[in-house]
Amino acid sequence: MSEPIRPTPQPGILDIAPYLPGKSGAPGSQTIKLSANESPLGASPKALAAMLEGAARLEVYPEGSSRVLREALGDVHGIDPNSIVCGNGSDDLLHLLAQTYLGVGDEAVMNRYGFSVYPIITRAAGAMIVMVEETDYRADVDALLAAVTPRTKVVWLANPNNPTGTYLSAAEVRRLHAGLRPDILLVVDNAYAEYVTADDFEVGLDLARTNENVVMVRTFSKMGLAAARIGWMVGPDHIVDAINRIRGPFNVNLPAQMAGAAATRDTEFNAKLKAHNAQWRDWLSAELAGNRMRVVPSQANFVMVLFDTPEMASAAFVALADAGYIVREIGASYGIDNGLRISIGSEDAMRGVAKVLKSMDQTQ
Ligand SMILES: *Cc1c(COP(=O)(O)O)cnc(C)c1O
Repeated sequence: MSEPIRPTPQPGILDIAPYLPGKSGAPGSQTIKLSANESPLGASPKALAAMLEGAARLEVYPEGSSRVLREALGDVHGIDPNSIVCGNGSDDLLHLLAQTYLGVGDEAVMNRYGFSVYPIITRAAGAMIVMVEETDYRADVDALLAAVTPRTKVVWLANPNNPTGTYLSAAEVRRLHAGLRPDILLVVDNAYAEYVTADDFEVGLDLARTNENVVMVRTFSKMGLAAARIGWMVGPDHIVDAINRIRGPFNVNLPAQMAGAAATRDTEFNAKLKAHNAQWRDWLSAELAGNRMRVVPSQANFVMVLFDTPEMASAAFVALADAGYIVREIGASYGIDNGLRISIGSEDAMRGVAKVLKSMDQTQ
């Protein structure tokens, strides 16, 4: 039998396992979705108003560089707007970074339980992903550095990390950077930075501003605007220039640019979301601890719960689903088959989840 003659994807594309998004309940069902780390307090009302204003002008192309959004980010974070690039979600920017800095024969390094998009975008660029073992579900700086070879071009680091919720301190990230050759790009993905309460954490901003080989990537998705698809990155001029050459010329739509700018300036809403998250993350972690399950200490807006066995994790998933709570199984995408990732939701949802998991334990 001869192979059919037809278009063929580039090498590596068909080795990619598709991204598995968090499940939703059936449309119209009463389920509460705790599987995608979305905001339990909705979106900033100011962002919503700005988005509706932008929606009144759908016939016009958006300003291509997301200027209003970059200016708002620049003001609030004290950054030169020229060092910012916005994207259609941070996923857009991560893809562009991979496409720009990785190719056939190159390697990208990441920690074993790092964000599952990194292998996809690395392979999509034709490069190889090198997975580095962690120490108790935390990235290990020495192990990451030991995995660097002459082929290494990029190091992907989610900080805090998804799905584990663990983080590296400012000193650890700086040590990682200091150990890398200057031609290796360190991508610091701070998707959950807004939720961090640890004193020894820092975002990748200073590193990105003062080095030629670091970018910081951020998103609005975990702060109430997941549907709007807005991400941003900060990096040195030469990287900003390269990404601007290949990004879609209108990659962020106008309502999203306006919503993002308003959300950035709505520091009151952001503080409320952070406080809610910290309170119920602590509460859920304390409530579950001990009950034959381990809650890995989290700095994000979710917790990873580890059970004694994969069967217990599956039983917990089903018991939660029966009670109307959809959480995230992390066996298939991350290989943590005794774990579940549970987003921090409303007070009611957290009390409900704790009740289900604790009563489950009593019946084992
Ligand atoms: C959710 C998430 C993102 C990005 O999401 P977008 O919705 O594409 O902005 C990026 N990195 C990590 C680690 C995430 O968990």
